[in-house]
Amino acid sequence: MSKVYNFSAGPAVLPAEVLERARDELVDWHGSHMSVMEMSHRGKEFMSIAEKAEADLRELMKIPDNYKVLFLQGGASSQFSMVPINLLRGNSKADYIWTGAWGKKAIAEGKRYCDVNVAASSEAEKFTTIPDPSGWSLDADAAYVHYTPNETIGGVEFHWIPDVGDVPLVADMSSTILSRPIDVSKYGVIYAGAQKNIGPAGLTVVVVRDDLIGQPVDGQPVMFDYATHANNDSMYNTPPTYGWYFAGLVFEWLKDKGGLEAISMINHRKASALYKTIDDSGFYANPVDPDCRSWMNVPFTLADPELDATFLEEAKQEGLVTLKGHRSVGGMRASIYNAMPEEGVAALIDFMGEFEKRHG
Ligand code: PMP
Repeated sequence: MSKVYNFSAGPAVLPAEVLERARDELVDWHGSHMSVMEMSHRGKEFMSIAEKAEADLRELMKIPDNYKVLFLQGGASSQFSMVPINLLRGNSKADYIWTGAWGKKAIAEGKRYCDVNVAASSEAEKFTTIPDPSGWSLDADAAYVHYTPNETIGGVEFHWIPDVGDVPLVADMSSTILSRPIDVSKYGVIYAGAQKNIGPAGLTVVVVRDDLIGQPVDGQPVMFDYATHANNDSMYNTPPTYGWYFAGLVFEWLKDKGGLEAISMINHRKASALYKTIDDSGFYANPVDPDCRSWMNVPFTLADPELDATFLEEAKQEGLVTLKGHRSVGGMRASIYNAMPEEGVAALIDFMGEFEKRHG
């Protein structure tokens, strides 16, 4: 088989054109006779790569000038700690909106630093919905409000930005960043692990408003202080250079595709087609409230879970791989990030129809 469609939740599919370009540049980047992996992060070649990547990300996301963009390591999981360390600023409480498994981890880490108020939760609905904001118990004196715009495991996505007044809004955008245009000025901090819509694992992107930098909780590691990285252009220590470079190639690819407006239309089309297949079938099911279904991660179950292994095996034979659902929910999950072509989703839809005919 020459090619597969990879529905992994992350690390995930990357644009074929970008992989090919990285291959072509692998051992000799632009006549430097060096691989990007071999370059000093302080050399002029890498500095030009780093600056271009940041400029392209700023352009794509329309990031205002009063925000820093940080290219870090540690994964989104270290942001679960860096957010309270940097944003508490003498305050002792923070609000969290809890809509799934990743929010739970952010909350657990937040509790190590402050009094966490879970201002809203869909736990009672088994995280299949987003609580109506009219019922949220937000605290106007909280240091920040944290939420997870897209819950990668449950497949629950906010298609709107919460209004939290003057309290800084913090978003774990790991599995939705760059999938659509967003108004960055509504946020205090946006962070994302790269391994879904940005590039290879090992890079973490943080977008943080200037006024939230520089007052970390006492006694914390210097590496967990946003100022350490903001004051050194993310080069206080050795940054994840190859991931940063690769992310830059993905940003260029996105710009060539027409930017976030264009990709969001494609993402919407892909997700709608897949949910329609599920809803029309009577054989497949997705439990999430239609108003908050994810465009990026589509979990679904089969009418008979005994067929799960057969489904996965037959799908694999068709070149449709990594469809197994997260171990905590079972069933299937199709992650259809920016780099999943529409043909990949069409192939999955065809296969699902055929499978239902044979086994339904
Ligand atoms: N938040 C979300 C929404 C995620 O999907 C993930 C990873 N799947 C994480 C956080 C954890 O990211 P990392 O592995 O980069 O720490």
